[in-house]
Amino acid sequence: MTFAPRFKRILLKLSGEVLMGEGSGLSIDPAVTARVAEEIADVKAQGYELCIVVGGGNIFRGISGAARGMERATGDYMGMLATVMNALAVQNALEQIGVETRVQSAIPMASVCEPFIRRRAERHLEKGRVVIFAAGVGSPFFTTDSGAALRAAEMKCDALFKGTSVDGVYDADPKKVPTATRYDTVSYSKVLSDDLKVMDASAIALCRDNNIPIVVFNIREHGNFAAVLGGDGVSTVVQNEQE
Ligand code: UDP
Repeated sequence: MTFAPRFKRILLKLSGEVLMGEGSGLSIDPAVTARVAEEIADVKAQGYELCIVVGGGNIFRGISGAARGMERATGDYMGMLATVMNALAVQNALEQIGVETRVQSAIPMASVCEPFIRRRAERHLEKGRVVIFAAGVGSPFFTTDSGAALRAAEMKCDALFKGTSVDGVYDADPKKVPTATRYDTVSYSKVLSDDLKVMDASAIALCRDNNIPIVVFNIREHGNFAAVLGGDGVSTVVQNEQE
């Protein structure tokens, strides 16, 4: 499936884990982040307008804090702050290879980055900048998947690309079930009814209601982001049944 003529503006959701080092033990590994930046730069060079939402799971998740006795909302704010660190790391890696970027945070942080202002983000995209959205939706009890779905809808993105370290959506956990098979396409309703691990339910519902396809792919595989956009890469597309 080639996306090239259909998709002009895309939102890339990067889970925090894709910035982690495999052997280094670093939460944000500069070499790994640089490789992810190369993949993004390749796609940018093809003329796509790019928004990015970064997660924070490589550093902190509110739910893990809560499991150890911390107040959930406090943990979630810490998680949101973690996404700002990741956003700055991605910005740094992109700018080091000549891609102009702006970071906008849902939690205003005047001396670190811009606050989220939709019209301003629009202007950045028109000027050819990559806009990196940090701090999710800015409220606890949400995730950056919901932030990605929300920003994709607000910014009128044609699709949400979820860059992870697996190559799509499977009918069972491929790490545990050797016979697990990957879907090429799957409907939003099947993802929700079968509780398939794509994004959390509120993010799926927001994409479904706004008819935003979700493309799940492995961003750690060299050349795969551009290949998926060109119709050659491996991915799963979550979309409405009739499409
Ligand atoms: N978070 C939040 N509200 C948001 C986005 C994120 O409270 O709108 C917190 C939440 O604790 C979450 C953490 O930030 O666990 C890191 O984000 P996420 O788990 O989505 O990161 P990812 O799994 O994509 O790396």
